Order: sequence, then structure tokens, then C-alpha cells
Amino acid sequence: MKLNVKSLRYLASEDWRTLTAVEMGSRNHEVVPTPLIAQIAGLHSGGTGAHKCISNLAKAGLVAKVKNAKYDGYRLTYGGLDYLALHAHRTSSVLYSLGNQIGVGKESDIYAVTDGSNTPLVLKIHRLGRISFRAVKANRDYLRGRAAGNWMYMSRLAALKEWVVMKALWENGFRVPKPVGWNRHTVVMGRVNAFPLRVIRLAEGKRAMGREEAADDGLEEGEDREGVDLVAVRRLYAELMELVVKLARVGLIHGDFNEFNILIEEKMDDTDNQDDIVAEPTESQPSSELGPDKKGRRITLIPTLIDFPQVVSVSHPNAQFYFDRDVACVTRFFSRRFGFESDEPGPFFADAVKDLGKNGKRLDVEVEAAGFSRKLAKELESYMRAVGVDGDAEKDGDTDGEDDGPKEGSDENGEGEENYHKKKGQEDAQDDKLDDLSLRGVKGY
Ligand code: ADP
Ligand code: MG
Repeated sequence: MKLNVKSLRYLASEDWRTLTAVEMGSRNHEVVPTPLIAQIAGLHSGGTGAHKCISNLAKAGLVAKVKNAKYDGYRLTYGGLDYLALHAHRTSSVLYSLGNQIGVGKESDIYAVTDGSNTPLVLKIHRLGRISFRAVKANRDYLRGRAAGNWMYMSRLAALKEWVVMKALWENGFRVPKPVGWNRHTVVMGRVNAFPLRVIRLAEGKRAMGREEAADDGLEEGEDREGVDLVAVRRLYAELMELVVKLARVGLIHGDFNEFNILIEEKMDDTDNQDDIVAEPTESQPSSELGPDKKGRRITLIPTLIDFPQVVSVSHPNAQFYFDRDVACVTRFFSRRFGFESDEPGPFFADAVKDLGKNGKRLDVEVEAAGFSRKLAKELESYMRAVGVDGDAEKDGDTDGEDDGPKEGSDENGEGEENYHKKKGQEDAQDDKLDDLSLRGVKGY
């Protein structure tokens, strides 16, 4: 779904009031009757005002006319919800300009945005209604009576969850994007200047590259970074496993811990002070491969974790399953991509939660207290299950097609996170166009 902000400029304050009225009316009405819209907006339903506003909004695609059996009325569209959220972010000075789309997930759109001081930020728009027809059909019973209007509610839930989890993690020193703002189905966060783990490769890459290269054709396009060495790989692996354990210790499991949701910043170090990181050579990793690069530098890989709508508490009945799956996701990726297999087994869920809350921190409890109640968590979880949301892993093209890979019909537009990498290249080239769709000068702002 494209976010077309053109009409933002032309909406007057009565239009905004009318749009808000449609949104409010939607809480109790699948189709909001026209007189009710006028009434909530405080406009004369008999007068031309209300009708003019509604027709403006309809022309811009922000509301859609619906002929009900009993009456005519309107419903809010995704575009309308987007506008309300953008308007709110702009009014509270969270967001100043809107740039390129940098990611298309199955359940979200990601945009590069900035605030008033040009800080690079990211706007994540949750789109839980963007589900496959098949999923809807398969779950017709569950969705019956709830599908209508539900996408809006569920997208809000996903955004709220992302917001409270990200905030809790950020405030407790985890490396996640800085939470900046939340409104309706959107979250604004710091932009991480990093690539998904998905694009990181070995410098020499002799071992794992054969199959990978073929599988990833096209991904390398425009990539001008050097590969990484095995020391960096080994350290990153250890750090990621530690992260899974650290999360569990404070009560959380990411639930979608994979190479798309781990962003990697590459930091070049001089080797002078690197004694501590020179790993012991092993049979599979001879010392020749452990050294610094030809320029005497070594790359350190710094992970940032993103994407939190699927986080679960360690008290979830299937917690161990999610924990093990998170571990397995990373283990499998490291094995395939880098030919890296850890000598150490685990980590194991039972060990990780042994010290649960010992330091007094239970972020799963904090998240609940912050407004994402267990009831909401359940609602979101069953909806996600019903519509086949199961994380990025299923969109992973980096497989031999055994147990994962895109599921048929799961991605209507044939767009997945892969698109991000292509878009990312474009974005770099177009960075100077960031203000393309600037909200500057928008009426009412
Ligand atoms: P989805 O739920 O659709 O998977 P994500 O939150 O994982 O959405 O974001 C999709 C992609 O957008 C990520 O893989 C990442 O490449 C990019 N992205 C998301 N958030 C940020 C951010 N804060 N900074 C930089 N890139 C980001
Ligand atoms: Mg993701």
C-alpha cells in the first residue's frame, strides 16, 4: 500500500475534524451514518459543510462510501488512518518530513522520516489487515464478524505492543531503536544506520558461499562493503546467544529473532588493542582465517534488535518453543551463511529462566503494566495466528526449501523483506531526496 501524502496539504481543519469523526464513529458502527459523522464533527448535517468535507475526504481516498442494507454511510480507509496518525505525529512535533519507503514487510511499511532537527528516524506503519485471501478463507470462522474494522484495531494493537516493548528494552539498556513516538497503528523510532544481518558475508567466504551465492543472487547488488572475518562472526554469534538469554532473564522472548530483525553495524577497529578477541584456532577455523584484514583492521559487528509485535513472555505456555526457535533461527543462519557451528550447545530455556527476575526486572510484567495487558496480548496473538502471521522467517529466501521459504499465497504482492535490500540501495542513492514528500507547509500543522 502506497502512502500518498499529497492531500495532507489541502485538508482544512474541518476536514480533519470530519475524518476524526469517521474514526470515532467506527468504534460502534461498521458503516458510520452520514448524519452521525456530521454530529460528531460538530458540523451542520443539513448544511453543505459536512457533505463538502466528506466528499473531500472521499476524493482523497481517506474514507469510502458504503451502502448498507439500511442506510448509506462511510468507513475509514487505511489511507485515512495513516493520515490521522501522521497528523498526530506532526502536531506533537514527533515527525517533520516523510522520505522514502525503505521497507515493505508483510505486516508493515517502513519509511525514512525526520524530526524538526533533521534527526533520521523511521516510521513503521503496521498493516495487519494486509493478509492473504487464503488466510482469510482458511480462518473464516474465526474472522467472521470480526474482520470488518478489525484490521484497524489489530494494527493498533501491534503498534502499541511494539511501542511498549521497545520502550521497556530501551530503558533497560538493550540495543534497540530509540522509541520516539506512537500513534494509532504507527511507531516512530530512531533510524539505525546498519544493514540487516541478512547481507553480511565472509570476506573470503570460501566455505559457505557456493550454495549461498546462487541462493542470494541479486542481493549483492550495489554492495561495496568488505566481508567480515570469522572472529567477528564468532563474536557476533556469542553476543546474539547472550542476547537471547539476557532477554529471557528479564522475562521476554523475541519470537522472531532472525537475520532480518537483527541490524548489524560494522565498526572498523585497529588491531592494536584487540588481543582479547583473537580466538583460539580450531580444526574448522585455522588461525590463518582468524587474523585481521590486509589493512590490519578488524571488523566488529554490533547488533541492534528490531521488530517486536511477536514478543512473548517467558510465562507463555509455549515459551520454550519460541525460545528454542529463536536460537535455532540464528544457529541455522550462521551455519549456512558462514559455515559456522558453535562448539557450545544451547543456550537452553531452563538455564536462561533460572535467574528470572533475580535482579528485580520483569519486563514482561512492565509491558503489561504499561498498557499492553494480557487480554490485549491474547487478542493480538490469536489474530496473528488466524491470519498466518508467523514472523519474517517464513519470507526467508535463504533456504533450500525444506522447512521454510515463502508460503504460497502468503505474500500477495510478492513483496517481502527482500525488497528492503533493493530499496536500501535506492535509498542510499536518493538520500538527498529525503524531503521529497515533505510535510512542511501542510495546512493545520
Ligand atoms: P516487519 O514487521 O514488517 O518485519 P521490521 O520492523 O522488521 O518490520 O522492519 C522491516 C525492515 O525495515 C527491517 O528488516 C529493516 O531492514 C528496516 N528497518 C526497520 N526498522 C528500522 C530502523 N529503526 N532503522 C533502520 N532500518 C529499519
Ligand atoms: Mg521484521
